[in-house]
Amino acid sequence: MTVRSAIITGSTSGIGLGVARTMAEAGFQVCLNARKAEEGDKLAKEIADATGVKTAFVAGDISKPDDWTRMVRGCEDALGAVDILINNAGIQHTAPIVSFPKDKWDQIIGINLSGAFHGIQAVLPGMLERDWGRIVNIASVHGLIASKEKAAYVAAKHGIIGMTKVVALEMAGRNVTCNSVCPGWVLTPLVEKQISDRAEREGKTFKEAKQELLSEKQPSKQFVTPEQLGDVCVMLCTRGGEQLTGQAIAVDGGWTAQ
Ligand code: NAD
Repeated sequence: MTVRSAIITGSTSGIGLGVARTMAEAGFQVCLNARKAEEGDKLAKEIADATGVKTAFVAGDISKPDDWTRMVRGCEDALGAVDILINNAGIQHTAPIVSFPKDKWDQIIGINLSGAFHGIQAVLPGMLERDWGRIVNIASVHGLIASKEKAAYVAAKHGIIGMTKVVALEMAGRNVTCNSVCPGWVLTPLVEKQISDRAEREGKTFKEAKQELLSEKQPSKQFVTPEQLGDVCVMLCTRGGEQLTGQAIAVDGGWTAQ
């Protein structure tokens, strides 16, 4: 059986790291990515030692097309190909629309939306040449519905779901699928910051603010885990995903069912 290789952006923490570990456990070769080398090589080695699959790390900023050229070449050199792209890296900033900082808007659109576009453009030629590819965009429930004070993030995540559909249509019949996965709350550094901001604002403990955040939106009142999202990515890259394309799959404890 062909061993497939996946590049997972922003994968030295949070969801990306959990997805990388889960995919490696399922037998996929994984290439980690972050802007700076820091812990990347160490984490890649740790995953290889734990799972027995080949792994790699490439540093690069996903909002820069030139970095993508280097990242794809690095992953191909180390693992042979980029069969799977998991567009995961993303950032957040919350503020009311009237005072939303313009530089934060540009940065969020540049990373969360344009970064995914640059990645898709960089990997598609190789996928078409090899006649097989899987693209998974980690969007958000905020690609399907909105919350206050997240204008740039909600715009970027709605945008990525739209782009997912276009890529799916253009690639239909070519053995290349493209889907969005839309998590609800996942307890990662990105959300921990929102919880501590909320605790400070409302004079509550971190634990109280965490429970309130969950209760407000996520009916299951449980966080989605990075490993559960990894399992969904594995499904999209194996037989169950062969005819699944252009979709936005909510993994949100019932958030968007309300
Ligand atoms: P996180 O902050 O733990 O991880 C994001 C990673 O992306 C970090 O390692 C960061 O260094 C990296 N990154 C940021 N900008 C980058 C760039 N320009 N180039 C390369 N790497 C970059 O956050 P997370 O919660 O794991 O988020 C991962 C993805 O999941 C994001 O796209 C986020 O929008 C999405 N998401 C998160 C949640 C949640 O509840 N945590 C919910 C829905 C969607």
